[in-house]
Amino acid sequence: MEFVYDPENIFAKILRGEIPNKTVYENDHALAFHDIAPQAPQHVMVIPKGAYVSLDHFARDASAEEQHGFMKAVAEVCEILGVDDGFRAIANSREHGGQEVPHFHLHIVSGRPLGPMLAR
Ligand code: 5GP
Repeated sequence: MEFVYDPENIFAKILRGEIPNKTVYENDHALAFHDIAPQAPQHVMVIPKGAYVSLDHFARDASAEEQHGFMKAVAEVCEILGVDDGFRAIANSREHGGQEVPHFHLHIVSGRPLGPMLAR
C-alpha cells in the first residue's frame, strides 16, 4: 500500500505550532494533547511527530526509536490520566475506520464505562 501524507492536515499544523493545543505530554517522537471535542471525561490524542498517515503506516515504516517514543508517550499519558479503572485506545484508520484527520493518532479515552466496542 502507498501512504500519501498531507502536510496541511490539522495535526501537522499542531505539530508545527500553527494551531494551539492543550499538551498533556511530549517527547522527541510523540505529542499528546486533549481532544477538542472529548467523548468521555478524559480524551487524549497521542500522535507521532513523524509524517505517518495511519497506524499501519506507522507500524510498517517508523523506526524503532519512533515506535518506542510513541509507546512511551502512551504509557506516560495513562499514568498522568490515572486510568486504573480502565480505558480504551482507538486508532481509526481510513474511510471504513472513520478516520477524520489523516495523521496517525491514538485516542486514549477514559473516565466512565465506555460501553460496547462497536456500534451495532
Ligand atoms: P479521528 O476521527 O480522525 O479518529 O479523530 C480525529 C479527532 O481529532 C476527533 O476526535 C476531533 O475531535 C479531534 N480534533 C479535530 N480537530 C482538532 C483540533 O484542532 N484540536 C484538537 N485538540 N483535536 C482536534
